[in-house]
Amino acid sequence: LVRLRARLSRSQTSLGRGLLALLSRDSLDEDTWEEVEDTLLTADVGVGPTQELVERLRTRVRVLGTRSPEQVRDLLREELLALVAPELDRTLATTRHPDGRPAVVLVVGVNGTGKTTTVGKLARVLVSEEKDVVLGAADTFRAAAAEQLTTWGERVGVPTVRGPEGADPASVAYDALEQGTQLEADVVLVDTAGRLQNKVGLMDELGKVKRVLERKGPVDEVLLVLDATTGQNGLIQARVFSEVVAVTGIVLTKLDGTAKGGIVVAVQRELGVPVKLVGLGEGPDDLAPFEPAAFVDALVE
Ligand code: GDP
Repeated sequence: LVRLRARLSRSQTSLGRGLLALLSRDSLDEDTWEEVEDTLLTADVGVGPTQELVERLRTRVRVLGTRSPEQVRDLLREELLALVAPELDRTLATTRHPDGRPAVVLVVGVNGTGKTTTVGKLARVLVSEEKDVVLGAADTFRAAAAEQLTTWGERVGVPTVRGPEGADPASVAYDALEQGTQLEADVVLVDTAGRLQNKVGLMDELGKVKRVLERKGPVDEVLLVLDATTGQNGLIQARVFSEVVAVTGIVLTKLDGTAKGGIVVAVQRELGVPVKLVGLGEGPDDLAPFEPAAFVDALVE
């Protein structure tokens, strides 16, 4: 958590500090409010939420009149927190079912967003919680993808199920679940391909992977991985995936490399599902649960 704050506050300073400075001005004229709006839009908060927030801030600042720096900070903290929907349930379903079936977590997203890395890091988190994990390399299109996942598996100490290059992704996913059940694993994490160039093909493939897994019982989580640095463009891609499979949570990667933390707000609004995890770097320990209060504190520190 300390690291989360350190990482975030380093990259997100422009959002939090910028807003604090603007709202601390003695008189807030129209130009200042425009600057507030620009700051939020630049951080990818999105048009709708930005307008709502500015409206609320205007009212509250008017009511307050003269403000101390502490009051400005508290006010901003409260309003930003409300914006990231702290009431949403962000727990991950990673408990084995009473019938012995492992929890199934399907990880989807566009290639390059950090899917495979996220699967590896998540496996590590689960192993540290003393859970038995099996990985499924259902991105069979690129041999390098299965290779990369296997390397993560070895690093974390969990088995990876893979097929030959070009194998049916659904059959690899099914094999991984079979293997996980035989090994009495707690969780099976399935990495998938994300070639967005062919939307119909992608839909067919992901739909089939999910259906095949569901022969054994419901899929517990569908995590959509989204690269925070791709902004509104990433959101459009995210929407395509959420049309194909019912997403249960978002993993926002590369938050360490961007000042655009407002994407948390935008993506939750857009897809109606919570950000559950955030990626804060390329290393094995750089995945953290998304905690709204800690996130907002890091912004306005
Ligand atoms: P995939 O194609 O979606 O499976 O993406 P990869 O897992 O191969 O990741 C693509 C690149 O992004 C790799 O170089 C990763 O190390 C990097 N990456 C993934 N997550 C993060 C993150 O949270 N922060 C940073 N800085 N880099 C990341």
